[in-house]
Amino acid sequence: MLKNLRPPSLNSIQFRLTAGVVLAAALSIGGMAGWLNWRLRQILLSGHEEAVATLSQRFNDDVILYEEMMTTTEAVQKVIDRRAMGDTAIWVKAPSGELMAQSETLSMGSWQAAGLTEYLRSLPAQSSLETLMVGDRALAICIGPINRQGESIGTLFIVEDITQNHRTYLAMSRSLVIISGSMILLLAGLIALYVRQSLQPIKSLSQEMTGVTADSLNAKRLALDKAPTEVRELAQALDHTLEHLSQSWKQQRRLVGDVSHELRTPLTLVQGYLQSTLRRCQTLTEPQRDGLETAAAETDRTIQILNDLLVLARASMGHLHLSGERLDLKGIVLNAVTMADATGNRIEAEITDSPLWVRADASALRQVLVNLMDNALNYSTPDVGVTVRLFRQEQTAVVQVCDRGRGIPLADQAEIFEPFYRVDVDRSRATGGTGLGLAIVKALLARMRGTVTVQSNPGTGSTFTVHLPICQGV
Ligand code: ADP
Repeated sequence: MLKNLRPPSLNSIQFRLTAGVVLAAALSIGGMAGWLNWRLRQILLSGHEEAVATLSQRFNDDVILYEEMMTTTEAVQKVIDRRAMGDTAIWVKAPSGELMAQSETLSMGSWQAAGLTEYLRSLPAQSSLETLMVGDRALAICIGPINRQGESIGTLFIVEDITQNHRTYLAMSRSLVIISGSMILLLAGLIALYVRQSLQPIKSLSQEMTGVTADSLNAKRLALDKAPTEVRELAQALDHTLEHLSQSWKQQRRLVGDVSHELRTPLTLVQGYLQSTLRRCQTLTEPQRDGLETAAAETDRTIQILNDLLVLARASMGHLHLSGERLDLKGIVLNAVTMADATGNRIEAEITDSPLWVRADASALRQVLVNLMDNALNYSTPDVGVTVRLFRQEQTAVVQVCDRGRGIPLADQAEIFEPFYRVDVDRSRATGGTGLGLAIVKALLARMRGTVTVQSNPGTGSTFTVHLPICQGV
């Protein structure tokens, strides 16, 4: 479960898809929120700036109308009285800086509070149109000249209190940020889940393929019926590949088996002929005898390789018939020790007292143990001994073959059970090795529901451990 929740790697399709879609969603929602914010600002704030600007433009025309009936100062005051409402303050300063006229609102309590009126009166007479924050009040301000025949007769100040609108705008902006942020987070979570779910069939496919081995090729068919069409098509293509592989693997094994079988018969004849010539012919010169002995030894070795190959081919095709008799492993181990160590002084056996019953083929099991013991003796110097242990571990019988030889490098430890794999080819040839011994050990044990593992340190020695299930009942 926890493994499933691991964050995907930055290089994965899952991460790239999720990041791409989340980014697109975040940009769309962010863009929409930005546009809404801009519209809100337009409606709630900029609209008032435009209103005071329009008021400022009309002010001069209104003053000209009234000037026909009264003095300029009276006309200005008249227009101010008509235009200034509760939220709007208007005043005009003469070019000398003196106050010419002002609206009553400026002397109202709310405008007087916290020195707002003083602050506004001190504004410089420079044309501007802006929204200003003064303390906690928001004010739309328009300042402009009043001209008569190209000459300025004063500066007009129009201020509208838009604090309420500004607060509404801020509150709505804040809500927009919170809502769009939460929407992005929620969407990101949902998108991540959806992408993970959608890619699950591909993960299942690779998990199924990881489990495929040469032995399971034949039986393996990818069952992804509920997967999306593309993944199903991929699974079908892989199924075809598996089938082809399985067929060529079968053909290859059959070929190895047939060739080994076909070659073994004539070679056995040749070997028999060489042996009888060596035995019977007394007139052979020394070089002739040496040559025939070498030929006989090589024939022997080749027949051994062919026999091993035949065992491996039969085992992998499931044609190796092993008996599953009930055996006391103690007897087999002791037997194998005697066969491997003819002199009886190199292998020390530490064997449990009580019998250990397993179900196996006696001769195959003996071959497994002799192979391991031969290797232990061959790959260590003649002066050091080898220890063979037999003990019980829960429901398993364990045989360990431990040597203090040259050991096996870590990189080679997984490979040595493959056919023809040899760590040191020259050394292996010198010991008469073919590179098939451990592959046969593994194949035979697998047929008897057993396993073999290795632990080794170069220069210190190796321990090969065989596990076989204890046989329950009789
Ligand atoms: P071989 O017939 O060459 O011994 P095996 O399949 O028995 O082939 O072993 C494969 C290779 O594993 C050997 O060539 C050898 O390099 C290495 N090996 C096997 N057993 C031992 C051991 N006990 N100590 C060191 N190397 C070993």
